[in-house]
Amino acid sequence: MIRYALRCEKDHEFEAWFRSGDDYDRLAGEGGVPCPVCGETKVAKAPMAPAVGRSRGAPPQKPGGDDKGGEEKVQLTVPDPREQALRAAIRELRHKVTEHADYVGDRFADEARKIHYKETEPRGIYGEATADEATALAEEGVEFHPLPSVPEDRN
Ligand SMILES: [Zn+2]
Repeated sequence: MIRYALRCEKDHEFEAWFRSGDDYDRLAGEGGVPCPVCGETKVAKAPMAPAVGRSRGAPPQKPGGDDKGGEEKVQLTVPDPREQALRAAIRELRHKVTEHADYVGDRFADEARKIHYKETEPRGIYGEATADEATALAEEGVEFHPLPSVPEDRN
């Protein structure tokens, strides 16, 4: 089978299937391929390339008039250099904070409290606390700060 894009004398474009090129020539010559819009039997192949035998499964052609924005788009980005700089700065800060601090893990709340109440030597510590523990520490006036974390490192 061959599909031809056809155009009638009044510029209506349409498509029709034929068994072969000869079949088209014969039918069109006999006026056997009327325009579906106006019935005009004087039709000719449209200048657009006919889709020959592109058979089953070929995607339907996009309807005309949609061609301007019809090209497929891909999403691209150029990362903002400020974000890179910020991440580097956070990493640096985090390194500085932890460099001379003791890691106390989930004993952070206890240790921070001991330091606050001078029950142990004053020093830098870092570790984990639950939100409840952090709230309690804040209410007691214990000084602490969130350890800066780089967004991409959170996982
Ligand atoms: Zn027509």
